[in-house]
Amino acid sequence: MVLLGAHVSISGSIALSVDRARELGCTTFQIFTRNPRGWISKKLKDEEVEEFVRRRREAGYEVVVAHMPYLPNVASPEALSWRRSVKSLAEELQRCEMLGLDYLVCHIGSHMGKGIERGIAQVARAVNETISRVEAKCMILLENMAGQKNSVGSYFPQIRAILDKVDDQKRVGVCLDTCHLYAAGYDISVKEGLEKTLSEFDESVGLKALKVLHLNDSRGKLGSHLDRHEHIGRGYIGEEGFRVIVNHKSLRGLPMILETPQDEYGGYEVDLEVVRRLLHDA
Ligand code: MN
Ligand code: MN
Ligand code: ZN
Repeated sequence: MVLLGAHVSISGSIALSVDRARELGCTTFQIFTRNPRGWISKKLKDEEVEEFVRRRREAGYEVVVAHMPYLPNVASPEALSWRRSVKSLAEELQRCEMLGLDYLVCHIGSHMGKGIERGIAQVARAVNETISRVEAKCMILLENMAGQKNSVGSYFPQIRAILDKVDDQKRVGVCLDTCHLYAAGYDISVKEGLEKTLSEFDESVGLKALKVLHLNDSRGKLGSHLDRHEHIGRGYIGEEGFRVIVNHKSLRGLPMILETPQDEYGGYEVDLEVVRRLLHDA
């Protein structure tokens, strides 16, 4: 079975995310465990957790992914904001563990002008501190960035350098976002480019570490460094690009999660339909 899903809302209650994923026909899905726009999270209530776990079990979801909120920056060179970000990462990992989630995806972040080496060191420290503080089966996945100014982890050797500094490698992996790859300059829109990108990733990071794929087309051009997601087939990666991506032997077995826009063109149902057709036609 192909694991294909989307980032669904928890609006109303976390358990409702399961129903939303089901209605879309998702075979996996991603959530925020809380409102992603603030620093504060309300404590999870036992009933809330139990209801989510029950519905998930009933629906038979083997893999469920969480995404970190927007504000934390674990690459921050500033003591105060770094500290706050680590606290948030640890809190999220704890919440994921309570909910029985499999992976917690975290954007690698920004060094805010203090240099890539500093950023790499801060991310590794953040991860080490988090995994030593929170006992969890849930893995932390570092998500590649789009090559934005001061970003850390847009390129594979930087991700390798972070992982090399992590104390317990079993607790950390990688999530690759197709939009971010393309915007960073990896041309995955054509077969040769995808092969080159994946072999570079394998040599540098190792495909074993790759646990989740975020499927998003790119509104920005190759190397634009813009993190702007587009509907599958309507951006610069294009339908033909995605046909090769979703059917690639190194990727097809991974949980694939859409984070595409919900707009006048449509919601996830449209993009899921496109990806299913591409998987089927191959
Ligand atoms: Mn992300
Ligand atoms: Mn993503
Ligand atoms: Zn993005």
